[in-house]
Amino acid sequence: MLQVKGLTKKYNNIVAADNISFEVENGEIVVLLGPNGAGKSTTIKSIAGLLRFDGDILIDGHPCKSVEAKKIFGYVPETAAVYEYLTVYEHIEFIARAYRLDAGWKERAEKLICRFDLQDKVNKLGKELSKGMQQKLSICCALIINPRMVMFDEPMVGLDPKAIKELKNIFIELKNAGCAVLISTHIIDSIEEVWDKVLIMNRGKVVLARTRQELEEKGEKLEEVFFRCTEGSQAL
Ligand code: ATP
Repeated sequence: MLQVKGLTKKYNNIVAADNISFEVENGEIVVLLGPNGAGKSTTIKSIAGLLRFDGDILIDGHPCKSVEAKKIFGYVPETAAVYEYLTVYEHIEFIARAYRLDAGWKERAEKLICRFDLQDKVNKLGKELSKGMQQKLSICCALIINPRMVMFDEPMVGLDPKAIKELKNIFIELKNAGCAVLISTHIIDSIEEVWDKVLIMNRGKVVLARTRQELEEKGEKLEEVFFRCTEGSQAL
């Protein structure tokens, strides 16, 4: 489970995340929606332990920058960062060794490679991969550790339709396995069928939090709510 309490992140005089608090339960898919510059990536990068911030972020009760937390969460960044001179397979093997995964990782790796159509790319170097292939590899690396919490920052960008379909199935599988899933996007359509709770961000704040049930009970449409909450917004 992920707990974000009073997260505040400033870049000089810009407050990119302004006292943000929310939780993602085990087996829950939470979507961070917001226009460009709303603060989604800043929030995700803070949770991933990549930024200095004020507030508390706990993953299964451990501070997000602790080794205990790092062992159990996966992160797919907005832009895949691959090693130029490692092959696809070596990337996954590197993660498996770094995380000291048990032998089962090889079987999981084969399944992931197959699901993302990377079978004939396993011996290609990072620098030889297209953007979409890099993104697929980045997803495989995040999932190989069997994470208990996983974050995806704009995961659909650059993926082909088959990979998008696989990824949506994977979101559901992760949820069913009790994983806490946080997805950041500004493409509402891409996550319409999968989310349990939506957090709409605007100008560094969470301006609306709704469960799917709450939205349905109010007879609201996600797209309408999104535009209502973010109307007239400009990037900070
Ligand atoms: P997008 O949908 O365009 O990716 P976002 O919601 O992820 O946007 P962030 O990248 O978190 O938004 O940016 C939030 C604010 O913080 C923006 O005003 C942005 O200009 C600013 N910002 C982000 N990174 C930095 C940085 N490294 N230095 C200074 N300002 C930054």
